[in-house]
Amino acid sequence: MGATIINGKALGERIKQEAAQQVRALGEQGIPVGLDAIMVGDPAAGEIYARSQRNRCLEVGIRYQLHALGRDAHEPQIRDTIRRLNDDPAVTGILLNLPLPPGIDTPALQYCIDPYKDVEGVNPANIGLLFYDNPIIAPCTATAVMEVLRQAKINPGGLHAVVVGQGAIVGKPISLFLLHEMATVTSCHIATRDLLQHTRSADLLIVAVGKPGLVRAEHVKPGAAVIDVGINSVVGGDGRRTVVGDVVFDEVKEVAGVLTPVPGGVGPVTVAILLRSAAEAARKQLATPRRLDG
Ligand code: NAD
Repeated sequence: MGATIINGKALGERIKQEAAQQVRALGEQGIPVGLDAIMVGDPAAGEIYARSQRNRCLEVGIRYQLHALGRDAHEPQIRDTIRRLNDDPAVTGILLNLPLPPGIDTPALQYCIDPYKDVEGVNPANIGLLFYDNPIIAPCTATAVMEVLRQAKINPGGLHAVVVGQGAIVGKPISLFLLHEMATVTSCHIATRDLLQHTRSADLLIVAVGKPGLVRAEHVKPGAAVIDVGINSVVGGDGRRTVVGDVVFDEVKEVAGVLTPVPGGVGPVTVAILLRSAAEAARKQLATPRRLDG
C-alpha cells in the first residue's frame, strides 16, 4: 500500500483562515497588523517576489510595506532600516528577505530585529528561547513541520525521529521541537557517517538539506512518516525547470506510511505560518512591559 500523501495546500489554507480571523480580531481592538519587508538586491526580481508577498498578506488583511534597498546597499544602511522599523510603533512585523548580497553578515542583521517583531523567528533571542520551549515567535518552517505532523495525527512522543540537516532555522529548530514533544532525536548532517543506517531506523524522518535525490526508498523504514522540507530547482527531463524536494517522491511513496510532496507539502504551510506569526507578533506587542521571559 502506498503512503498517505499530506495535502500542504489545504492545511496552509486552514492556517491562513486562522490568521485572517486573528487579524480581524486585532483590528477590532484597534491594532492593525502589518508586515514590513526589507529586500536588498535586483529591484526587478525583488518586485515579482514582493508582489506575491503583498498579495498573500492582503488576502488575510495584513498591511504590507516593501522597503527596497539597491543591490549595493551596505550593512549599516540595512541595519538603520531595521532599527527605524523597530522604533516605529505602527510597524508590528519585520521580515528581512534572504539571500542578502555576498559579504553581508546575515545573522548579525537578524540579531537587530526586535524579537517581538521578528515574524520569521530568526532572531537569536527567539532561537534561544526555543531551547526552553518558549519562543516569542518560533521559526516558521520548523513550526510548519510540527503542524504537518499534527495534521497527520502523528504524536512524536517515544518515536525515533531522524532529522537530516541541522541548519540554524530549519533542521536544528525541528530537532528541538521534536525533543520537546518527547521524541528520541537523531540529528544527521554533512559529516554523518552511514546516513542510511540512521534513516532506516527512523519512525519519523525529516529531511531539510537542499540536495535533490538524497533520500531514496532504501533509506526509509517501511511505514515511516517522511517529511520533505527541501526545495530544489532542477532541470527536468523535458529541459524545463521544476521544483523538487530532497526525497525521491515516486520511490519513497511506495515504502513510507506518510509522505509530504514537493511542491504542495511543507512549503504552503510555511507561508501560512508566517502570516499567522505576523498576527501573533502584533498580539504579543500588546503586552506591557515586554519581557523576553514570557
Ligand atoms: P542549510 O544550508 O542551513 O543546512 C543544510 C544542512 O544540510 C546542513 O546541516 C548540512 O550539514 C546538511 N547536509 C548537506 N549535505 C548533506 C548530505 N549529503 N547529507 C546529510 N546532510 C547534509 O539549509 P537550510 O536553510 O536549513 O535549508 C535546508 C533546505 O530546506 C533547503 O532545500 C531549503 O530550500 C529548504 N527550505 C524549505 C522551506 C520550506 O518552507 N519548505 C523553508 C526554508 C528552507
